[in-house]
Amino acid sequence: MADSRTPPEVDRAAASRRAVAARRERASLKRDVATRVITPQELLRRAQAAPDSPAGAMRVTEFLTAIPAIGEGKRDRILATLGISPVKRLGGLGVRQRSLLAAFLDERWPEPRPRGGRSRLVVLAGPTAVGKGTVAAHIKEHHPELVLSVSATTRRPRAGEIDGEHYFFVDDAEFDRLIAAGELLEHATVHNQFRYGTPKAPIEQALADGRSVLLEIDLQGARQVRAAAPDATLVFLLPPSWDELVSRLVDRGTEDAEERARRLKTAKVELASQGEFDFRVVNDDVARAAAEVVSLTG
Ligand code: 5GP
Repeated sequence: MADSRTPPEVDRAAASRRAVAARRERASLKRDVATRVITPQELLRRAQAAPDSPAGAMRVTEFLTAIPAIGEGKRDRILATLGISPVKRLGGLGVRQRSLLAAFLDERWPEPRPRGGRSRLVVLAGPTAVGKGTVAAHIKEHHPELVLSVSATTRRPRAGEIDGEHYFFVDDAEFDRLIAAGELLEHATVHNQFRYGTPKAPIEQALADGRSVLLEIDLQGARQVRAAAPDATLVFLLPPSWDELVSRLVDRGTEDAEERARRLKTAKVELASQGEFDFRVVNDDVARAAAEVVSLTG
């Protein structure tokens, strides 16, 4: 006969495991807000949608101090001004308190809004290890109507990379010549190492032929494209969470610990720039993200 009584120690152990897991999830969400992978408003919406979720269980105090630029003093003043008790959890806020908090966040840190414009020149950028290359490769394979720009680079080819297909592999002298001749739409030194640049002529040709062009380049390059072609559509690829970005970087195993730390620091700076972009796409699933990027091409 099945024993319906569960020994209390097992109960306690299970409850404490659940508490640890819940704390971990809240910590992970706080990292997402701190690194700007999600906006505070997004976390508030998730709490509202599911008050029993880790977002809903987060205290307003934890929530506010997760936001860059809010320390404990500022947090307490904000709560006092909004008339919210510090013991409140996000999922337990009343309608009025929630709307006051949302209005406060919107005023201080307005969420980026899609610009709405569509251009046939589309730039895909995003932090290191977010999967830009994978999304671009997926688009190349499934959407041959889109022209994927082939960059020039001074880095050596990796195994399997073909000159003229993945990159135009050039030496420093040739890269200097391309710049001097005005043949690059943009160029930048990436990760303090090699130079990368977008050849202008193939893009002009593709646009003249009525085709859409996708550039998978770094943040510095995206800014230069915006300056050179103000109507270009800039898309920022986001990881589903900060922790996911870290594990993708670790899992691909192409960088040592020191280089990983350096790239994560850069990733934080890059995430902070997402407001400069016209659209944000979350790379939760490669095919889905690729389809969304394609839908943004004019
Ligand atoms: P990888 O060497 O791994 O192929 O690329 C390294 C980085 O260079 C990626 O972040 C990629 O977005 C960036 N990149 C590739 N081509 C260009 C380019 O033409 N211009 C700029 N600015 N960045 C590029």
